[in-house]
Amino acid sequence: MAAVIDVYLPIPAWRPYSYAVPETGLPDEPQGCRVVVPVRRGWKVGVCCGVRNADPPEDVAPAREFLDRRPAIPCDLWDLGMWMSSYYMCPPGITFTTMLPGPCRPRMSAVLEPRPALASRADTVPAELKAVVELLSHGPVLRNRLERLMGVPDVERLVRWLIEQDLASWKVKVGPEPASKQMAIATLVEAPDPVRVTAAGQRILEALRASGGRLPVAELVVRARVGRSVVATLERAGLVVVEHTMEPAPSLRDSVGPPLSLTPAQRGAVDAVSEAVRNRVFQSFLLHGVTGSGKTEVYLTAAAEAIAQGQSVVCLVPEIALTAQMLARFRGRFGDRVVLVHSGLRPGERLAAWARSTVPGSLVIGPRSAVFAPVSNLGLIVVDEEHDASYKQERDPRYNGRDVAIMRAHHASCPALLGSATPSLETYQHCLSGKHLMLELPDRVDGWAMPAVSIVDMRAEPKVHGPRVFSSLLRRRMEEVIGRGEQVLLLLNRRGYARSVQCADCGFIPQCPDCDIALTFHRRDYRYVCHYCDYAEPAHDACPSCQGHRLGFGSLGTERVDEELRSLFPDKRTLRMDRDTTRSRGAHVRIIDAMEREEASVLVGTQMIAKGLDLPKVTLVGVVNADTPLQFPDFRAGERAFQLLAQVAGRAGRSAAGGEVVLQSFLVDYPALLAAARHDYQAFAREELLQRREAGYPPFASLVRLEVRGRVGDAVDAHANAIAAGLRAVRPGQGGRYLGPAPPLLPRLRGLHRRQLLVFHRARSRLHAWVRDALSRAGEHHEGTRLVVDVDPLETA
Ligand SMILES: [Zn+2]
Ligand SMILES: [Zn+2]
Repeated sequence: MAAVIDVYLPIPAWRPYSYAVPETGLPDEPQGCRVVVPVRRGWKVGVCCGVRNADPPEDVAPAREFLDRRPAIPCDLWDLGMWMSSYYMCPPGITFTTMLPGPCRPRMSAVLEPRPALASRADTVPAELKAVVELLSHGPVLRNRLERLMGVPDVERLVRWLIEQDLASWKVKVGPEPASKQMAIATLVEAPDPVRVTAAGQRILEALRASGGRLPVAELVVRARVGRSVVATLERAGLVVVEHTMEPAPSLRDSVGPPLSLTPAQRGAVDAVSEAVRNRVFQSFLLHGVTGSGKTEVYLTAAAEAIAQGQSVVCLVPEIALTAQMLARFRGRFGDRVVLVHSGLRPGERLAAWARSTVPGSLVIGPRSAVFAPVSNLGLIVVDEEHDASYKQERDPRYNGRDVAIMRAHHASCPALLGSATPSLETYQHCLSGKHLMLELPDRVDGWAMPAVSIVDMRAEPKVHGPRVFSSLLRRRMEEVIGRGEQVLLLLNRRGYARSVQCADCGFIPQCPDCDIALTFHRRDYRYVCHYCDYAEPAHDACPSCQGHRLGFGSLGTERVDEELRSLFPDKRTLRMDRDTTRSRGAHVRIIDAMEREEASVLVGTQMIAKGLDLPKVTLVGVVNADTPLQFPDFRAGERAFQLLAQVAGRAGRSAAGGEVVLQSFLVDYPALLAAARHDYQAFAREELLQRREAGYPPFASLVRLEVRGRVGDAVDAHANAIAAGLRAVRPGQGGRYLGPAPPLLPRLRGLHRRQLLVFHRARSRLHAWVRDALSRAGEHHEGTRLVVDVDPLETA
């Protein structure tokens, strides 16, 4: 009997496909190696899941070749991938492909190559093949090109005679492969004469000086917040030399910087994590510390412990662009051991980084996909800002990097350390139930107090014509701050949901009586609709709460705020940061630069400005309408509101000058708002958890979101109804329910109709079984529609 290899392909199929062993043979450990196999009219790169003794299927060609000699997906990651595939209900082939860095998924194209005999037998070919032979006389031809030139859909059949006569053969062209698996390293050249350099160039030179004169270019651009072109300009000016190397250059600073002295709270946290590192046991920790409480120092010291044990560390960060400072501290402490992976790497650099992360004792830092770095001897995983939405991948497999990190730590028997100032309620509930161990850092290390927060009741403000922008308090504070030459940050949360409703007089937001979420306005039939359960009521002309006639749709626009600012401070410059002004590359950085150089007094922006900005001259933060997040129809609206307000409040008072926050609101007794004003996470969590438990939402139930998309509305409805029927046909047992089908917040997106169902169950395993059963009852294939399965969705709109 011959041997057969089984391969998972990157297609929506759950089963592996079988092929004969390629002529080029097998690697020593085939499982987890990439292999090129014939698929219909082309080739694909799959991942081998095993070899067995059997006769290969008759109608299938042998696999072409293995691309790896050692598994691209090593054993521990293989187990993690199989878990992900099952948990996130995503076929294994797609899951494994996601785990590999982009350059490991080369595109395959088919090429028709002439055989030596063709030249001498050109006269003997049938007439319809003359044109093909003419093309082949110039060399191999890509299949796509051949198809185009010959104008036939099935070029395979056309040229079969040539193949049979051994006059031509199909080959696979792999590529384009990265030219080199090398890393670009920049070295500082101290020029004898000072040369004029742009501000961006200065930042590059400073970052290089701060790290001993050498840094990988990919890291340098993150640290200095510049594009690669700036490095190239400096290179042309002779201020920087860039070389390409496989190994990190030995003169890269390798000395390990001294740790800072720890506060007792930091020491306690480090001791707990270090003990788990030394004992090689799985334990998940939540490091809960207010902004500025020194979480990074805890990560660094715990990582040092793992590295001292010869283990490797993976550190996930939400957005690489916002982590320049943290990256500098890791580099300062661990020198060459730091391996940065992010999407800005060139393909060759990405492969080089992937290869370097296998060196024992390395520290890999990067966004969610860094959780798949093939480090050996994993000793600790850190997830900074664990609540951040960027950890969730919004395409298949829809995994959450934080949860995968915890599972990976579990498989590797090592601790997972999650950190946040505003933990997600899922994580916090896991602390209360004892699943995670909570470590608290209650105070800021710099000794600066948290900024004072005032809430302005907008209902009590004198009435004006049109929407009110600034309360008298916020206006007064802005005048004072700007008068002192300090800066103001204004948050205008406008997430493009023009369907949300709030009364401009009393702040009333219409809610679904069953789902406790905000209703959305549907102009066409003039109704308010719940997009969880499809409940609807006629839209009111008068506010049901105050009988006023100023129910507003959407919220204040940035332009309106700009206008008001110009009339208040005609001679001061205002900057705007939102999706419109940051569309071009580097715009984000230019705005921050201008604020740093104090070229403007006010920065107005959407939630973009809440994250990570560190502007010491900002002493006042104003939130134009603190209720806006609550208008968003999602059971997490309160949580989002708290996180946003807590984060934006953290932008004030980042220096000895202190700071103040003014929140304008109509819903002044809303618990999330009051808790944010007092910087009191516990109070917020207590109240919010109570409501979630009552309403049966996560973390007290597990949730799967099912979304059907398609061009034809009726087909989408039929598919969604079939799923609903499937859900009804099975008894889910106690604690199971579903909502929908209902139109999501955007019922049509890019020409596709959408319907969604939310399936809840108190028991996670029951939920998965219920959904699987319902989906198989609904049938796999529905003409013209596509099903999205989102396990633990972050967005339910
Ligand atoms: Zn009202
Ligand atoms: Zn509802």
